[in-house]
This record gives sequence, C-alpha cells and structure tokens, in this order.
Amino acid sequence: MNQSFKSLNTTCTHVGEVADTQFKGAVSPLYMSTSYAYEDVAVKRYPRYYNTPNQVGVAQKIAALEHTEAGMIFGSGMAAISHALFAFLKQGDHVVFQKELYGGTMNLIFTEFPKYGISYSFAENEEVVSFEKVIRSNTKIIYIETPSNPLLTITDIAAVSKLAKSKGILTMIDNTFASPVNQNPYDFGIDIILHSATKYLGGHSDILAGAVAASQAHIDQIFKSAINFGGSLSDFTVWLLERSIKTMALRVQAQNQNAQQMAEFLLAHKAVDRVFYPGLPSHPTHAIAKKQMHGFGGMLSFELKPDYDTEKFLQSLQLIKPSMSLAGVESTMLSPTKTSHALLSAEERANQGIRDGLIRFSVGIEGVEDLVADIENAIVKSLRKQLV
Ligand SMILES: *Cc1c(COP(=O)(O)O)cnc(C)c1O
Repeated sequence: MNQSFKSLNTTCTHVGEVADTQFKGAVSPLYMSTSYAYEDVAVKRYPRYYNTPNQVGVAQKIAALEHTEAGMIFGSGMAAISHALFAFLKQGDHVVFQKELYGGTMNLIFTEFPKYGISYSFAENEEVVSFEKVIRSNTKIIYIETPSNPLLTITDIAAVSKLAKSKGILTMIDNTFASPVNQNPYDFGIDIILHSATKYLGGHSDILAGAVAASQAHIDQIFKSAINFGGSLSDFTVWLLERSIKTMALRVQAQNQNAQQMAEFLLAHKAVDRVFYPGLPSHPTHAIAKKQMHGFGGMLSFELKPDYDTEKFLQSLQLIKPSMSLAGVESTMLSPTKTSHALLSAEERANQGIRDGLIRFSVGIEGVEDLVADIENAIVKSLRKQLV
C-alpha cells in the first residue's frame, strides 16, 4: 500500500521520493541506467519494464494522488490510453465511448480499432441512459472523459460506474482536464484512471508524459501488455515529472481560482456570447460537477458575439499565448475549429455543439488583473468595422 499523508501538498511533495542514501541530498537522485545487476530473477530491472527507481517513485506518487493501489507512467498520454485499452481488449470486443473525447483518442479509435476487429459505439450524450442504450452483450469497457474538451461537459462518474458494475463492465476515465487535485474518480467507482501528464501533472508545457492509476490487479494486467508495446518514459523526464508534481496542488488551486474569476468576468462582458465553465451556476451540468469535483479546474471556453472577429481577437492578445496544448502555468487560448477539432467535418463539429467562434481558454497562474487587461484590449481590436 502507498504511503499517504493528510495534506495533498505533502503527498505531492514527498510520496515516492527516492532516498539519496549515498549523499543525503534533498531530492531524488536520477538513475539513468538501462542495465542493472541481475541479483534476483524475479525483479529484472529495466526501463521498459517500468521499474527503474525513478519510475517506481513517480508511479507511487500518482497512485497516492488518485487514491489507488498502484500506478504506471508512460511516454505520453496517448501511450497511457492505448496501452491501457489494448491490455484489456481482444478481437470481437465492444467498447462504449463518451461522445466528446480528446481528438487523439478519437483518432486511435477510428484508425486502430477496425484493424483488430474491435467494435465501438458512442453514447448519444453525457447522460447515463445514453451509455446504457448502446451497451451490448460483448461490451468490455465504458470509457468517459470529464470535464470534456472543449465544452467542459460533465459526465456523472458515480452513475456510469454503477451502471458498468451492474453489468460487469470495466470503466476507464481520462482525468486529464480535472487533474488529481480536482477529481478522484476511483472514489466514485471507476476502475482505471488515465492522464496525459503533459498537462496538469507536468504543468510547465515542457514535458510529454502519461500516467495510469488503478488497483494492483489491473495494473498487473496493463503491465503484461505494456512491456510488449514499450511505451515507457525516459528517466530524465520521469525525474522532471516528479519535480513538477511537487507544486501541482499549488498550481492547480491557483488556476481554479483564476478560471472561476475569468469565467465570471467573461459571462458579464457585453462582447461575450456564451461561456462554458463547470464552476458557473449557469453551466448545464454544474450540479454534477459540484458533487464529484473538489475544484472546477483551469479550463473554460467561450464565444464572442458576432460583431467580433475571433481570429483578430486571438491575434491581438499580447500576454495570453494563442497556442496548442493546455494546463501550463502560462495562459493560452486556441480555436478548436482550427486546431484540436480541425480533423472533424463542419457537420461533426456542429453535432458536438462546437461553433467556429468557440475559444478554449487554459487559464494559467498569472494575476487576473493582467489577464483581464489583455482580453479587454484584444476585444476592442477585434470589433468588426461598423458600416456607416
Ligand atoms: C493531451 C491530452 C491527451 C493526450 O496526451 P499526450 O500527452 O499529448 O499524448 C489525452 N487526453 C486529453 C484530455 C488531453 O488533453
């Protein structure tokens, strides 16, 4: 079992530390070895076996953060997702997916599943009855992602877990947008928790990594496939990930507060049409968010009124970076139509409720007054020329 502390900050800082027995340094030493003595045949230490000292330490930290027995870390979020899915799936199986999913996950389903004879269905919306409707006798996994990208729709985690358990189906969740600071799906009955550690766990837009948290039995099963797929992370990046997670709760709590304030500011702004943030009482699934999240997260999205040019707005930002990816300490914005959801047809986007003017906002840790000033300035510049 994992070591655990009362305080989240203590867990972030200390769980899984590798002791420096040689020099008694304050931080974990970095072990870059790919070759270890074969003292014991039962424990062959090798980076692709996910068992170097640094990998084991960070996996423990992730497990403690997600309240699970065990964890594993991977070379990317997609490595974590694909290794976990394919560890449990075989030809003839069926998977039920939530409708709104990370673009890379969609691509994985569409391009890889048919090759292996694995079928899938999407729930029509995020309500639990929609999941129930598409379950088949060969459904092996129900896979959800909440809050979703980019509209921050909330799926009822406990309700989906209960449905799956009643039918003996395994559940997986992509918990990236919430981070373990804001949401612990294991407490609501989810079996396997997935993260792109590139996002809030890393938090500085400088490392690519993934993580899985689950029971020891489920991790053992994922391990059996993962040594074949080989998606392990370089120990240098593992070491950076450990350092990043030490400040994760501090960072994410600051991002929660900033995002709430920015959502309220945008909602009240005369140039803004719609705002999507689970922390707003006006959000359609705010009540479920309150039930299952400790904080509402640092992600929101919004649309400007038709009088304003979205592209011009993004180009006019000076502090907030119009760039891909999310969850760094710096604020970023992007247009899902032009980036994360560009591969979908206009019809598919419309079907998901994504309008061309939608802007996704990853709120950083900057001062809210500076973010507000940057947005005000860009709004003024993006007003379409009025005909006289
Ligand atoms: C970024 C992301 C992923 C993929 O992670 P990579 O680290 O880029 O492989 C998966 N799910 C969500 C929700 C993400 O935001």
